[in-house]
Amino acid sequence: MTFASPPLRARLTSFLVSFGATLLATPIMAAPSVGDSVSMRGVWPAGAACAVSLTYDDGRAIHHQLVAPLLEAHGLHATFYLSIQQVRDPDEWRKVAARGHELGNHSLFHPCRREPAEKFGWLAEDYDLANYSPQRFHDELELANRFIDLLDGGRPRTYGNNCTNLTIGRGDREQPMDPILEQLFVAARGTVTRKPVDPMRPVFTRLGHYSGDGKTFEQLRAEIEQARERGGWIIYMFHGVGQGTHSLFIDDQEHRKLIEWLDRERASIWTAPVVEIARHLKARGVRTGTRRNDAASRPN
Ligand SMILES: [Zn+2]
Repeated sequence: MTFASPPLRARLTSFLVSFGATLLATPIMAAPSVGDSVSMRGVWPAGAACAVSLTYDDGRAIHHQLVAPLLEAHGLHATFYLSIQQVRDPDEWRKVAARGHELGNHSLFHPCRREPAEKFGWLAEDYDLANYSPQRFHDELELANRFIDLLDGGRPRTYGNNCTNLTIGRGDREQPMDPILEQLFVAARGTVTRKPVDPMRPVFTRLGHYSGDGKTFEQLRAEIEQARERGGWIIYMFHGVGQGTHSLFIDDQEHRKLIEWLDRERASIWTAPVVEIARHLKARGVRTGTRRNDAASRPN
């Protein structure tokens, strides 16, 4: 979660400017369809009992070098949330997208609420979400979308909330980011709730999730088996895979065991990118839940 040196920013600016003439307007995602409640029976495809999304944040090289190929070897796909200033290998990410993974939006500059400030020494005050206006936040996410359009050809996608924050602005100007996310994305992975998403009432602009960093395979399996009993959608946020790949990481072997197990359990567990599962639920006419349902739990 370190930030770009001035030369990198200059390169990013140059890159964006050079492609500016060819950029098309970012497609506006379809608004959530609101229909009648669906029956729990058959909510997941092919008779699956639950759904799992694996998400990997911050666009680390290990993701395209090891994680994506490992998933593909087991016929699985994930969501990779790219923070654009950290993209070093655009051609590698193009290949990842072409092989069926989601490239999600994790902003240009990784802005977060610097609360408490002493824990956010890595984040310049210029990128404190408490200082962002709605227009600035919208424009940053829209530009990140346009960059990713160049990598994946312009697909519908989701947002992985930076630092799992849900609001921008400060004091009496603090406001939820949901209206902006609804305009730009199919869905957003909101805060850490440690609860599976209820497929009958998903809050698409703030899908609750679990952190997978530092967990063992047995811990992850126990959580997913709980979701399977309840028919829910469990979303995991990972950062690094293996020591040295990120300050937050899961052990390489524990991660491998998880992927192998998800492959073996594919008859009852549907593993797919966030965008695919969100679109599946929307196509079924699932009614979106109220924000209050998901807002009680605070990120850890
Ligand atoms: Zn991040």
